[in-house]
Amino acid sequence: MASQKKLIEKLRSIFFELISDVATYSYDELLFMLAQQLNSLLHTKHAAIYVYNNWDKKYELSTNGKHGDELLDEIMSQFINQNLSFIERNQIVQGTVNYKETYIIPLQLDKELAGFLLFSVDKDITKELVDSLKCEIEQFLKIINYYQVGKDNERKSKFLYDLTSHFYSSINKNDILTETTRTLRKLYPRFTFYILLSQDYKADSTLPVKEIEYSDDATKRVSTQAFITGEVQLEDRVKEKKSCLYAPLRGNQGVYGVIQFVAPQTVDYSQEEIEFITEIANIVGKAIENATLYQHSRHLVKDLKRINDATHQLNSNLKIAEITEVMRQQIMDTCNATQVGFIYSNEESDKLFDVLSGSTDYFYTKQGQAFAEYLINQMNTEKEAIFSGDLSKDFNGLPYRSVMAIPMLQSAKIYGVIVIMHDESYYFSFENFKLMQSLIQHSTLALTNSILKEKLENAVIKDYLTKLYSRKYLDEKIQLHMETDEKGTLILFDIDDFKMVNDTYGHHVGDEVIIQVAQIITLHLGQNDIPARWGGEELAIYLPDVSIDDGVFLASQIRKQVENFTNPLITLSCGVSTWSGKSNDSVRDVFLRADKALYEAKKIGKNCVVKGEWNSQFSLTEESAPNQ
Ligand code: GH3
Ligand code: MG
Ligand code: MG
Repeated sequence: MASQKKLIEKLRSIFFELISDVATYSYDELLFMLAQQLNSLLHTKHAAIYVYNNWDKKYELSTNGKHGDELLDEIMSQFINQNLSFIERNQIVQGTVNYKETYIIPLQLDKELAGFLLFSVDKDITKELVDSLKCEIEQFLKIINYYQVGKDNERKSKFLYDLTSHFYSSINKNDILTETTRTLRKLYPRFTFYILLSQDYKADSTLPVKEIEYSDDATKRVSTQAFITGEVQLEDRVKEKKSCLYAPLRGNQGVYGVIQFVAPQTVDYSQEEIEFITEIANIVGKAIENATLYQHSRHLVKDLKRINDATHQLNSNLKIAEITEVMRQQIMDTCNATQVGFIYSNEESDKLFDVLSGSTDYFYTKQGQAFAEYLINQMNTEKEAIFSGDLSKDFNGLPYRSVMAIPMLQSAKIYGVIVIMHDESYYFSFENFKLMQSLIQHSTLALTNSILKEKLENAVIKDYLTKLYSRKYLDEKIQLHMETDEKGTLILFDIDDFKMVNDTYGHHVGDEVIIQVAQIITLHLGQNDIPARWGGEELAIYLPDVSIDDGVFLASQIRKQVENFTNPLITLSCGVSTWSGKSNDSVRDVFLRADKALYEAKKIGKNCVVKGEWNSQFSLTEESAPNQ
């Protein structure tokens, strides 16, 4: 009896010593050391402490990483399994294993089974000793557990602190994801995890980053659920024997993704663990939000600077084509658009709108023009911009999905619409849209001003009725060409018996006929040719660097068209003259010769082309011999 009392006293001093080391050793080490001390104190053959592992859901031997006698372990674990129901009811088990007296003492912590002590001895020991062993070890467990929780919390707080302070100085997303991965691997070495992000983000390929998938697949639905609700979601994958936890990456303004934890087997995540993981996810979410906002604001500043530069440039008195070019560049650079169209409402033309230069090719196609018409009508009725991720539903056959159509507004009047498109659906961001609205708002004045200016210029140099150039403009242009070119040809047209047209059909129809002739002439022009209204029903074309024979040919073509396609049918007489560097001609000389040839054409019966030579000889061109 006395020796047993001594034993208990010794036992207490062992605990006392161990407890004084509680801060130095880990939980596992302390239990292992305790088992060793008991072994020598009680002269046991086998003394071991088993503790319940929450993750693995079984009692595990505290071995401190060392391997024992496998055969013995096997026998002992059989004995444990046979008596598990007793242990779980907090009953001390006594039996014979390998001819030895073997005890299992359940160890409780806060009225719950935390583990048990197992040992074998040669001879019986007293109940008193067994009871005090149970009591002392439970006390010991309570203390080291308390320390352990404190240590754990301290460790976790340190992780949170380190993570936060790291992120505080980081505005780089890749950096944030790398640091998050590193921390999680350290904290949960046995877990697999993925960072699922909501926007496609090209992360370093070594990082476990994936794009969140919104599919109907049941497993993916849980991650989506976490993403949408912003709440932690748990999922047991029964077939795979794995437990997943999804922690949303929440910022102040939204959820940016989800961290998926995959446990190596089915586990119960404790409330504390869930709270801790939530805290990590929140820190990461805020960091991603900061980085995103920072990047956005940087982009915004960059874009605003660009627009500022552009509007500055636009206000410097540019021509229409130059303005649309500057704008097109800006739009392409900022939005990476596939097509850009500048559609200008034209009240004076019968076409409803003009496609301004700078527009991309689609707007010159038949379908592109129909689309432009649709948009102009839409703007005029709705008076609002269109920002659509997929407009192909509204406009059948549109080969582009994303469309931004922004009206050019000036003093509440719609001057037209600028259309920006991309092949892919939902391509443009709302930031793009706001930016484009701002760019267009700032440049509309410059554009309408230059269009107005061009109109005024045209009004001076162009004839109102036929839209051909004025005689004065023609005079000046020929003068310039004669100063620089080698040669040139002038054609004069005069409508035959025009008085009769006026007398028969009235002045108004007479005007119409002049317009028809002007249109036929326009259709036959080369790029550099200058058409003009020379007088009442007399029209002219100057052909720079063109020989007289080519001029005669062109005049004949026009004469034939007029003879066949005017309504009422009329005919033309034409005089053609030329000049070259060799002759010492003035503009007036060239005019006079053409006029003389024209007079000759009238004289010989009208509806023909006469070639005026330098020596005032005339030759009636063969192909244009009068019909009569
Ligand atoms: P010819 O074959 O000799 O040219 O006979 P013509 O009747 O055409 O005679 P001429 O060229 O001398 O007459 C031109 C007429 O065209 C005179 C004028 O009444 C008419 N005219 C001139 N300008 C206009 C115009 O802008 N509109 C209309 N409707 N008639 C015009
Ligand atoms: Mg005339
Ligand atoms: Mg005439």
